[in-house]
Order: sequence, then structure tokens, then C-alpha cells
Amino acid sequence: MIIGTIASHSALQILRGAKDEGFETLLISDEKRKSFYERFNLADEIITVKSFSQVMSEGLQEKLIEKNVILVPHGSFVEYVGAKAMLELKVPVFGNKRVLEWESEREKSFEWFKRAGIKMPQEFKKPEDIDRLCIVKLGGAKGGRGYKLVRNAEEFYREFGELKEGMVLQEYIVGTRFYPSFFYSPLSKENDLFSIDIRYEANADALSRLPPTIRVDPTYVVTGNLPVVMRESLLPEVFEFADSLVYESKKLFPPGLYGPYCLELCCTDELELYLFEISARIVAGTNVWIPYAPYAYLKYGEAMTMGGRIAMEIKEAEREGRMKEIVS
Ligand code: ATP
Repeated sequence: MIIGTIASHSALQILRGAKDEGFETLLISDEKRKSFYERFNLADEIITVKSFSQVMSEGLQEKLIEKNVILVPHGSFVEYVGAKAMLELKVPVFGNKRVLEWESEREKSFEWFKRAGIKMPQEFKKPEDIDRLCIVKLGGAKGGRGYKLVRNAEEFYREFGELKEGMVLQEYIVGTRFYPSFFYSPLSKENDLFSIDIRYEANADALSRLPPTIRVDPTYVVTGNLPVVMRESLLPEVFEFADSLVYESKKLFPPGLYGPYCLELCCTDELELYLFEISARIVAGTNVWIPYAPYAYLKYGEAMTMGGRIAMEIKEAEREGRMKEIVS
């Protein structure tokens, strides 16, 4: 069995984890990135493609199936190939592909959160309903591009002209953002917190460096990640969120959410936690904790990364003849 992924995001961590567990590795790369990945010597084979959507081509899929490859999806993988297109992928993918639709379509993810009974920022259906500071998210936008803050309908129309398809008007939570990464194992049924990061976003995170007389609108383009820990007293509630999301996912899209996932939370000065999004696959913020995910270390007493945990699960499933439970 070979563990493969696409050359971006957390590919290095996924390949390192696979190698550490004794797997052969394969990387799908474009010409531009190939030499970067070669420097790390983590891919036993690199397949070069013109564009990453080529993963969907019959020829490449057949080749991957023949080689007995399991593909590990990450954020860029889903972005380049598309959550819908991935449903048609015949190569085994680690995790439940159906969850990718539920995480990427906002209406669906809000329904999931609601059913799980999790506090979310208030949503406003039309600009006239806005009665507090709101973040306006654009349909199909990735990485917060073009998002703006408005306080009322007037400001909304001044910024955007009209309400467009897919726009979300969401209460802006002033507080600290936290991105806790979990791994739910369908084999052991353990739902483990691994680590927490905070996204470093341009230029929202740069504004405090400017004098107050200079006004620049915030944008939310992720440029990096920082390690962070939460007050330990907040963690029980974070686990409650994670457990109920896993529980509801089993009913909404069986067999539900499993493998790595990450909650996008904001905590106010009243210590109230709000969930505004979920990433249902490995997030790049786990890279900051290589080789020790702190909470995995606290529980298991050994160095563990999310990439390594994925490979461990594949190994375990292979040993127990339970591959069907971990791929889709
Ligand atoms: P990605 O797909 O990369 O997660 P996205 O386009 O889905 O991005 P969000 O993650 O929802 O966008 O939002 C981008 C950023 O905007 C967040 O990381 C956070 O900093 C900020 N943000 C989003 N929603 C809220 C909110 N309700 N309150 C406060 N900040 C928010």
C-alpha cells in the first residue's frame, strides 16, 4: 500500500508521517513545485501533472489504483480538485468524501452545527436585518478574500451594492480565534484533540502595527499559522463541540466525520465560544506542532503528528482487515 497526496498545504507532514510508519509514498506535483519537494526526499515517486485537476483523469486514476495508492486529502487538494468532483474519484481516499460537501457548503455546515446544538455567530438573511457588527462573506470565496465588515444596511449597500448569490451576513465575534485540530478514529472510536493553532491573516493581523490615524480595511487572507494553547478550563467545552459534531455527522452523512478535522472558533471576553466554520480534513495549522502535537503527547506519551496519525490509522486498518471503514 502506498500513501499519496498532492504537492501543497500539509503534503510534507503527510509524507513524513507515512514514511515513519513504513509506507511507500507518492506525490502528485506540477512542474513548478517538484524541485521544492525533491529537496525533502520524502516522496518515493513524484508524478508530474499539468494541473491538479488531472487527478480526476481516467488514466491517472487507473495508474494510482494499480499501484494500490490511498490518497490523503488536504485543504489545497479539495480546493484544486473540488469537493463535488472528488465524489467521483475512484482511487480510495482517506476519510469520508461526503463530509467535504458538508464543510464547503455554508448552508449545510450551519445546519450540521445547529443540529449539534453548537453556538454560532448570528446569521442575517437580508441587509435590513443587520443590527450589529457583521462580516460579509462572499459566495465561493476562499481564504477570506473580499470579505468586509459592516454595521448596518446602509454600510452593506455602500460596500456591495446588492445582496448577491451565496453571500453570508454573519455576526462578527470580537475575541480570540482558536483552531483546534482533532482526529476521530472509526477503528477505536476515540475522538482526540491533537493541537491548536491560530491563523495568521493578512492584513487583519497587521492592523495593530498601524497608527490609529491610518485606516485600512481588514482582509482575511491566511498567510501562515502560529501555535497557541487555550485556557485548560475552556477545553471541556471544545470537546463537547467535537463530540456532538461527530455524533450528528453519523446521522447526517453516514458513516460520518472521521480522520482529521479542525474547528474554527472565536472566544469572547465573556469566555463564550462560537463556532464559525469547520475544516473536515487535515489543516495546515497542524504543521506548526511537528513533531509533537501537545495533547496527543499528553494522552499517548509519544511524539505524534497529524500526518503520522493518519498513517497509523491506515496501518491499523490494514492489519485488522478494516480498510473499508477508513476510506471512501
Ligand atoms: P477558509 O476556506 O480558508 O476557511 P473562508 O473563506 O471559508 O476561509 P472563514 O474561515 O469563514 O472564510 O473566514 C475567514 C476569516 O475571517 C477567519 O479565519 C476569521 O479570522 C474571520 N472570521 C470569519 N468569521 C468570523 C466571525 N463570525 N467573527 C469573527 N471573525 C470571523
